[in-house]
Amino acid sequence: MLKQVRNIWCVGRNYGEHARELGNAIPEQPLIFLKAGSTILESEKLIHLPPWAGEIHHEVELALFLDENLQVFEGAVALDLTARDLQSVLKKQGHPWTLAKSFKDSCPIGERFKISNLDKLQQNGALRLFVNDQQKQSGNFKDMIFPIQDLVQYILMHFPVCPGDMILTGTPAGVAAIHSGDRLRAEVVGKSLGTWQVV
Ligand code: ZN
Repeated sequence: MLKQVRNIWCVGRNYGEHARELGNAIPEQPLIFLKAGSTILESEKLIHLPPWAGEIHHEVELALFLDENLQVFEGAVALDLTARDLQSVLKKQGHPWTLAKSFKDSCPIGERFKISNLDKLQQNGALRLFVNDQQKQSGNFKDMIFPIQDLVQYILMHFPVCPGDMILTGTPAGVAAIHSGDRLRAEVVGKSLGTWQVV
């Protein structure tokens, strides 16, 4: 099984309600940014917030993994942790988001699952995120602005994607700050679970 993720291709603003909650327009093309492959936290249950952290937000997302033929073959629940206060400043300045998106431990992922039917996942799949047992985010994959197949095609057309790479497909509404001591539980309903303690 492919395990190493060299690149994380991330999609921003792929759910209308989330774009609106941060005051962003609905994009006409997929909005793509990168997280370093080394930001992944897999089978590790502690999320260490960076020492400089201000406001770190949770963004629960469906992660997709590509095989040797660059076809989607596995999925997992993932968190695209984001330094939101920093990102707001960078956005205003017109600067890249790297500082706000690609810090250590900023991409925890849950258990991987096999994807045999992408259309079925798109139509029936759903995400949930609980913080201290309270539901904070939920979303259905059928509500994505750009469906999975279109995202994959767009990313393959524009970037040197490698086998093993991961795609993050965007977060639904409900993003908010996490704090030391919080317990996070994220799931792709019925398929992938991730639980973490924030320290
Ligand atoms: Zn995100």
